[in-house]
Amino acid sequence: MSPLSQKEGSSRSLPNQTPCLSYWQRTTRAFPHLHANKDAKVPSNSKYVVVGSGISGSLTAFELIEGGVKGEDIVILEAREAASGASSRNAGHVRPDAFRGFSAYSKVHGEEQALKIIQDERLVLQRVDEFVTKHNVPCDFNLTTTFDVCMTPEFAAYEKESLESFKKAGGDTSYIKFYEGRDAQQKTKVPGAIAAYEWPAGSSHPAKLAQFLLQTVISKGAKLFTFCPATEVKVSSSSGLWDVHTPRGVITAEKVIHCTNAHAALLLPHLDPYMRPNRAQAHSIIPTPAFCGDQALRSTFSLRYSLHHFYSLIQRQADGTLVLGVSRSNPTLSPETIAGRLSTDDTRYNEEIVQDALRSFGEMFPDYVPDTTMHGEGLDHAWTGIIAMTTDSVPFVGAIESLPGQYICAGFNGHGGSNLHPIFFNINKANQN
Ligand SMILES: Cc1cc2nc3c(=O)[nH]c(=O)nc-3n(C[C@H](O)[C@H](O)[C@H](O)COP(=O)(O)OP(=O)(O)OC[C@H]3O[C@@H](n4cnc5c(N)ncnc54)[C@H](O)[C@@H]3O)c2cc1C
Repeated sequence: MSPLSQKEGSSRSLPNQTPCLSYWQRTTRAFPHLHANKDAKVPSNSKYVVVGSGISGSLTAFELIEGGVKGEDIVILEAREAASGASSRNAGHVRPDAFRGFSAYSKVHGEEQALKIIQDERLVLQRVDEFVTKHNVPCDFNLTTTFDVCMTPEFAAYEKESLESFKKAGGDTSYIKFYEGRDAQQKTKVPGAIAAYEWPAGSSHPAKLAQFLLQTVISKGAKLFTFCPATEVKVSSSSGLWDVHTPRGVITAEKVIHCTNAHAALLLPHLDPYMRPNRAQAHSIIPTPAFCGDQALRSTFSLRYSLHHFYSLIQRQADGTLVLGVSRSNPTLSPETIAGRLSTDDTRYNEEIVQDALRSFGEMFPDYVPDTTMHGEGLDHAWTGIIAMTTDSVPFVGAIESLPGQYICAGFNGHGGSNLHPIFFNINKANQN
């Protein structure tokens, strides 16, 4: 593919070649398949080619094998090191939306579908829990509860209304707890909390999860080629199958599954108008004593000033590290920083966002006392990753009707709660057809 047909900052792009490393990547550098087949030529044919080795690509391969496909019939192509996209750069939450998105989903998809989306979010958490337990996945998965903390009366009113409309439409709210005023403050340890909602959620080490999946499929015969982008998919003139072009050869495949998330439109240009890459940023923080030992936060958080101004927070039970994500269009940031989110460049982080994250964290949790940190406490690392926003807020999953034999699982809107779900429910279609 000529570089001219790529569009910088759009979904019609290859991942940037000089990405920064996230906390998750920095703590898994010895993964043996990180640079698998980095210089090897690709085979000339493979029944299945999965493009992208993030959680979608690795779980697709995993589920294909579980469904009876031979590992030897699967090639996974990855443009950078193994699982180096959003899956290894996120904020570690496995957090279903319990009701907040209901109104927004209803406007686009109608009440019935919106109810299903929220129900499925809950189901995903359950399935992740079952999956991790069944396969004994060493990904630090921690099943706990999460708080949606309303930091302003306006947002508390918004949440109340969302919950009411969800309930009115028949949504199940029996598993959601509500706290107000002092109760909310005590429960969450956030003195500024106006109200809070609590429901089941979890956290994980996302890179370890993706790497477990890759390790498993490779051990069953699948081949991963890293630093090997798919640059074009064309009908094979000789066989009528699909030719997947890479810099290290062409693979003729019966089935191609696009798991390229924010970069999906490079190979599927007709998706370009429907998908926007956005750069998101997260931070690891080594806690001060107020968050150590038996004071560590056991639940996860979304701390919200408004719909577009919020912070996501988990504290890893494995090592106590706090992971803090910042919303992309936080209105307290400068217009330049907000505009900078429309990018596919995950080379570095934004310093203004770091400062906002640390200041806001100190304001929300005054016990943190950042001024008195000892050497080794405080900000550990900051990183960015690219998420894929779609025009209707849900991912593209399933067969691509206009391209028989091609499938897609991409466009996750910065969310993973619903991430595993489409694969669990749909991937075996690629096997059956
Ligand atoms: C900062 C940040 C915080 C987030 N926080 C959370 C969170 O707390 N909880 C949550 O659930 N979700 C979160 N997300 C979103 C979540 O990480 C993603 O939705 C999920 O990882 C998407 O998985 P994926 O496999 O579809 O995409 P990716 O992990 O992005 O994988 C796509 C892969 O395809 C590769 N690729 C792309 N184009 C090509 C090509 N042409 N050829 C070969 N390879 C290609 C990429 O290099 C990449 O490895 C966050 C994301 C970010 C960036």
